[in-house]
Amino acid sequence: MLILTCPCCGVEADETELHGGGEAHLSRHGPGSTDDAFRDYLFSRENPRGVHFERWRHVNGCGKWFHAARCTATLEVFGTYPAQTTEPPQSIRDAITARRSGWRWRDIA
Ligand SMILES: [Zn+2]
Repeated sequence: MLILTCPCCGVEADETELHGGGEAHLSRHGPGSTDDAFRDYLFSRENPRGVHFERWRHVNGCGKWFHAARCTATLEVFGTYPAQTTEPPQSIRDAITARRSGWRWRDIA
């Protein structure tokens, strides 16, 4: 079972208390963008086997959104952090690199 610690209220919650919100750190494209950029924003998502950054909401708790970094293959959680960030904090990236040598943060435009 996936267990995440909500960074907003500090509660360690299993996935039945949470609701997934899809991929984190999406680049928003709206009016004025190209059709391809808008299509990718609406429909294109990462689906890695490995490290992934996701949005979660603590539905049966504080109700706040947050981000989680985890491995989709093993459910290993590298950390959670507030949703008001445009990229993972350095501490999360360091935790991933320590356990997944060769991993590096991709450049998300
Ligand atoms: Zn919470």
